[in-house]
Parts: sequence; structure tokens; C-alpha cells
Amino acid sequence: MIAINSVGQGRSKALVAVLGFSAWWVVGVWATGAYADRPPNVVIIFCDDLGYGDLSCYGAPKTRTPRLDRMAGEGQRWTQFYVAANVCTPSRAALQTGRYPVRSGMCSYKRRVLFPNSGGGLPARELTIAELFKQRGYTTHAVGKWHLGHLPKHLPTRHGYDSYFGIPYSNDMDRVPGVPKNANRDGRVDYFNVPLLRDETVVERPADQHTITRRYTDETVALSKRHKGRPFFIYLAHNLPHIPLFRSTDFVGRSRGGAYGDVIEEIDHGVGRILQTLRDEGLAGHTLVVFSSDNGPWLSYGDHGGSAGPLRQGKGTTFEGGHRVPGIFWWPGRVKPGVVNDMGCTLDLLPTVAALIDAQLPDDRIIDGVDLSPTLLSGAPSARDTIFYYRGDRLYAVRHEKWKAHFTTQGSYGSSPKQAQVQNPALLYDLEADPGEKVNRAEGNADVIAWLRSLAEAHRQTIKPATNQLTIPLPNRKP
Ligand code: MG
Repeated sequence: MIAINSVGQGRSKALVAVLGFSAWWVVGVWATGAYADRPPNVVIIFCDDLGYGDLSCYGAPKTRTPRLDRMAGEGQRWTQFYVAANVCTPSRAALQTGRYPVRSGMCSYKRRVLFPNSGGGLPARELTIAELFKQRGYTTHAVGKWHLGHLPKHLPTRHGYDSYFGIPYSNDMDRVPGVPKNANRDGRVDYFNVPLLRDETVVERPADQHTITRRYTDETVALSKRHKGRPFFIYLAHNLPHIPLFRSTDFVGRSRGGAYGDVIEEIDHGVGRILQTLRDEGLAGHTLVVFSSDNGPWLSYGDHGGSAGPLRQGKGTTFEGGHRVPGIFWWPGRVKPGVVNDMGCTLDLLPTVAALIDAQLPDDRIIDGVDLSPTLLSGAPSARDTIFYYRGDRLYAVRHEKWKAHFTTQGSYGSSPKQAQVQNPALLYDLEADPGEKVNRAEGNADVIAWLRSLAEAHRQTIKPATNQLTIPLPNRKP
């Protein structure tokens, strides 16, 4: 314990490069206007497979994201923001519930996500972030990819959302039989028979994915205008930049970053439209907007996958490239602008908004998230000091402060090691000095590894068995 504290730098160094006071004061006064007597609107923009290094403000060398860069400059850009799982379904379950997906049964070692032939989904007993907003009378809306069960009983409309418009799972699922092997790269709509739903009804099949990013943005803009008279929560989960890549005509060939860059720049453009709508409607000072991604980049798709920047590997692994993602928070006049080098996680969004809107967290279950609102509003050190890294339902690694121990390693898709390798002694990395996990510091630090192992064991003791939702077949079908 002493060794950890003596070397743990993250919280003592804490934050924050604070921008000027004057803009804060001006917008703060403005925020006391028409909407000051009600809790804030919240918009969460969640991308699919967008990597840590895919935005200009996170070091992308070719792709231009000026609107996200401006959002980060006006708000907080977190450099150590995490997801609780390195693939889609469990990561989304964690965001919705504030709980590691092993608690809800929404993760699995072999069948890692839900598929169109899956019958499982997010259990009704889980409290979603939308249901939390419902406590306070919000209107709640899900737009985009759900991937927490596509049967009616699992859709957003059964989990606290007043409306849903989107593709219920990944955009490469429902592949039409007989299409070329490289269809994931070719981006032809008729290769993928994915449905587009309005609430619980299929309104388009196959969904025209070329226009899907723009239409999700259109929907979010329209919802923001339509519901400005009462507090709203919008969860916008883009299907892209998950392969196959699609972008609308206006964005083809626009980026120096190729097709992938085009997709990112269209998402950036959409974020700009959403933020400008909030400004135009007088809602900017009264709306928290969060931007993040569900897991790291799918590196095996080469230039059709993104970048984890300086981090090791990408989607699918417990190395940093799988779990660490962009995290941007924007709320003019309330979020204290700066760069945050402390840890945060999508698990924390639920308890953070609970604090911001004065909603009650349930006391009959473990919530793994912590309240980040003191960091957001005043630049206080983050309450998060530990991350548990799962692959499916198996705990592979633990980070506490700057130290991360890998007890088991396994590469991302197509990367080594392909099979799980137990590490004894554990691999140990100093993530403050070595975010790329290049130098194993196990030698001479047995006490640190022992401490991290004790944290893992204590965490494991809190896990109760849950039905594995990812291996449940469709009714009347074999898995
Ligand atoms: Mg994903």
C-alpha cells in the first residue's frame, strides 16, 4: 500500500489547465436564464470502434475534427478515459447500467457480443441511465446502435427510453449470403440486410447506411428542438466508424485520412450541428454533452480501422488500445475547461448524472461507477483510481493509480498472443511513464503486483453469478 501511494501521481497532480475566467463568467450568467430552474439536459454521443488516436485533439495526424476540437477546448478533454469492456455489447451494457457487465450477464468469453440469432439482452431488472432520468421527469430518447438485444423485450423502448430510432446491432451483421469475403471493406448497402427501427417497428431494410450518420444527427437535432421545453436525455450511439465504412456523398474523398477519415469527419460535422443547435436554441449553458467511444479501433481492418495513437493494440484486447478512448465533456459555464489527466470511465456516467440531476441511485445492487461531477464542475481530483480490465467474463488486468498488472494477456483481433497467456509473475506497466505498455516493470516491484492482485481478488468476491445473456439462442432456434 505504501509503495502504491508513494509512486501514485495521478491524483496528486490532478488537473487542469484552466482557460480564461471571463468566458466562464459570461456564459455562467447566460446559463442562469430561462432554463436555470430545472436540471440540465444531457446528450451522450457514443461512437462505435473509434480509437483513442482518431481525433485531431487526440493527435490524429490526417483526420480533421475541428468541431470536436472546439468542444474539447470549451470543455474537458480527458486523456485517461476508459470503457469497461473492449467490444460492443458489454461496453454498452456498462454505460447503461454503471456496472461491470459481468454483473448483468452481458458479457461472454467466446461469444463476445450479441448477434441477430441471439435471444438474450439486457435484463429488465437492470436500471438503465434512461430509467434514472425518468425519476426526474425527463423525456428520454435513444438514437443509433443499441446492441443490448434486438427482440422487442430488450429494445430501448423497454428500458426507459420514450423513443428509439436506429439499427439495433452492428452494421456488419445480417450479411447477405454469398457476398464477397471482403464485403466489410466494400461498403455496399445490399451486402448487409440490417434493419432500421423506429421504436419497435422496422421502417427500412436494408438500412441505407450511406446516410445513417446524417440521419442520426438529424434526429438528434430535431429531438433537441422539439423537447426544449422540458429536460431531455438523448443517447446518440453512432453505428460508425465500425466497418463496413459508409459516409454520405458530401463526405466522400474529403479527408486526407481516406475513407475512415471521411467517416470521422462526417461524425465531427454532426457533432458541430448538434452543439450549434443547442447554442441557437439557448440550451448550451444548460446541456451537458459527452463524447466517447465503445472500444478501441479495429486494427485488423488496416486503413479501414482507426488508430489507438500511442496505445498498445486495439479493439478486443485488455491492452490500453482496447479500453482507453476519447472522453470529452462540454457544458459551457458549468464544466470547467481544461485537460484532465485523471482516470474516468463510462461506468461513471450514470452516477455522475445522478448527482447532476439529483436522482437516486439504487441501493439494492453494486454500482461500479463513481461520481465525476466534482471534477467536471470544479476540477477536483477524480474519484476513480482503479480500473478492472475484462475480456468477456474473465478478469485479465487491474490498474490502480499509475500501475497496471496483467495477470493474463491476449491480443486484439488478429494480434498476438491469440490464445490467453497466464503471466506469472504478472506483467507490470507504469502507465504514467509508459502508456504504450512497452517496459515490463515486474522485477523489483513484487509488492505492487501483490497489491494489485489483492484488489482483483477483492473485486472478484463481489461478483455474483448472472445468466449469460450472450449465449441465449433465439426462441425455437439452436445457438
Ligand atoms: Mg464497438
